[in-house]
Amino acid sequence: MKTRVLIIVSLVLTATLLAVPSQTSAGGFPAVTETRILGHSVQGRPIRAWRLGDPNASRKAVIVSTMHGNEDDTYLILNELRGGDPIRGIDVWVVPKYNPDGYARRSRKNARGVDLNRNYPHGWRDLDGNYESGPRAISEPETRAMMRFLDEIKPRYLISFHQPLHGVDLDTKSNYLARKLIWHLKLPGKRFTCGGVCHGTMTSWYNYKHPGNAITVEYGQSPSRWHLTRRAPDQLLKVLTARR
Ligand SMILES: [Zn+2]
Repeated sequence: MKTRVLIIVSLVLTATLLAVPSQTSAGGFPAVTETRILGHSVQGRPIRAWRLGDPNASRKAVIVSTMHGNEDDTYLILNELRGGDPIRGIDVWVVPKYNPDGYARRSRKNARGVDLNRNYPHGWRDLDGNYESGPRAISEPETRAMMRFLDEIKPRYLISFHQPLHGVDLDTKSNYLARKLIWHLKLPGKRFTCGGVCHGTMTSWYNYKHPGNAITVEYGQSPSRWHLTRRAPDQLLKVLTARR
């Protein structure tokens, strides 16, 4: 008899725990509805993504920072969104530190010396030096992890934050998205030619393969912490027609 009571009590407890909504169970962050490890870097560091906002919203966005490990200031914007109030109006994933090995070494490249933003398959070329593109397209685990993720999510908007060129890339698929970014983030529109070596980039691959719009946004060399944590997060939500 005692055993039967115990079983019933534990069943009720389990049902109660399962009934707790995911919005309050994701590490105490009310904006977070899901966390995920997209894959691992060359040195085995996890590449983490956090899902914020409304998982049922039809519009989806992915926002990536620190693809180049020494361009990491903008992760503060994504950290701030993750730690803030629930976001409404969009289903948005943030990847604050896409290149964790580069970040750990303060390097543009990953641990094998590859520029991840030259390792994607669309227009890949064998580049050396500062833009080392790897032995072949998709040679790096970080590239494979992000491609898998983006192929699954298929966001309408993919925003990739870099530094220090201070501007929104006008050489892109959606003038509408570029104009919204210029307006709300208060950054100038620019054409980033990459010195003629814009081959195998993440945004060009995504724009080619998927109907959604991928765009590069560059902040300056040293944007202030105050701006990145107090102004930029809500400016970015306005770009996405979302609020919190
Ligand atoms: Zn960059």
